[in-house]
Amino acid sequence: MNERDKLLEIKNLKKYFPIKAIPFKSKASQVKAVDGVSFDVFKGETLGIVGESGSGKSTLGRTILRLLEPTDGEIIFEGNNLEKLNNRQLNGYRKHMQMVFQDPFASLNPRMRVKDLVGEPLALQKTLSKAEQARQVLDIVEKVGLTKSSLSKFPHEFSGGQRQRIGIARVLSMNPKLIIADEPVSALDVSVQSQVLNLMMDLQDEFKLTYLFISHDLSVVKHISDRVGVMYLGRIVEIGPKSNIYVNPLHPYTQALLSSIPIANFDVKKEKIQLEGEPPSPSNPPPGCTFHTRCPHAFDRCKIERPELVEQSNGQYVACHLYNAVTINNETSKNDKNKILVVQS
Ligand code: SF4
Repeated sequence: MNERDKLLEIKNLKKYFPIKAIPFKSKASQVKAVDGVSFDVFKGETLGIVGESGSGKSTLGRTILRLLEPTDGEIIFEGNNLEKLNNRQLNGYRKHMQMVFQDPFASLNPRMRVKDLVGEPLALQKTLSKAEQARQVLDIVEKVGLTKSSLSKFPHEFSGGQRQRIGIARVLSMNPKLIIADEPVSALDVSVQSQVLNLMMDLQDEFKLTYLFISHDLSVVKHISDRVGVMYLGRIVEIGPKSNIYVNPLHPYTQALLSSIPIANFDVKKEKIQLEGEPPSPSNPPPGCTFHTRCPHAFDRCKIERPELVEQSNGQYVACHLYNAVTINNETSKNDKNKILVVQS
């Protein structure tokens, strides 16, 4: 991939939510839901973002779309820094970046028929005649696997999987370049999940779409993604090509996550790694590496210095002192790195 292939660049993005102080009890504080995230998304790829509940992945998606105002950082879409655009220019870009939500029922107006739900974005553009618009709506509805008879129905008349298809059809009618899908199949039955995932992959090929696919489900992310980013407590701790992440995870957190699921199609033996304790609160993250309170390989440096993402090989980046050549305690790092490699072999 080269610079020209970048569709989206995220630079040191932060989203903090203020917490009100309780009188005489606590100081005002803030939840650091997204705390300095940087990555690129390349044209035509699917970048999966995984992490436990509370890792900040949904807030990340909403902040990129500017549904939430960023606290700091840059969102660069097709070379344009969205922060520097005026409202009219920003609205122009917004239609190229759309979101598919976990619960399509909540995002679809229950009083609108499918033809209006899908046709509304086209009507707002005011470029098509009524007949052209009707033709295009039918075309999109059929592309997502629904029939002509569904046009006159309301959302409650459909199953969960069909409603997600309507949500995707509505997004497609805006002709987006980037779709941020936030847990788009997690509310669906397992049998329906793969149908919707396959539909998204077919549409990606046909419409040259780029996806940022957010999910807590590592198996789902493996199915659809080209690259995968792993989030922990508001930060990306590892990112790289799917095959690297699933076969040779480097970060201890990624290793623990992957050790808990069966990985079909990848010939990798794993020992189950049990993490101690719960993730710390994002309102009071630990100093240094925020994973050090649960990491089986933590050493002194981890408690003091926050590790940055550093490329290890072939586009695989990891934020962990075990892999950083410049160390305070070189011997400890080398030993621990060897330990991790033994765990995977
Ligand atoms: Fe574990 Fe230290 Fe690496 Fe953090 S930096 S993941 S605590 S070894």
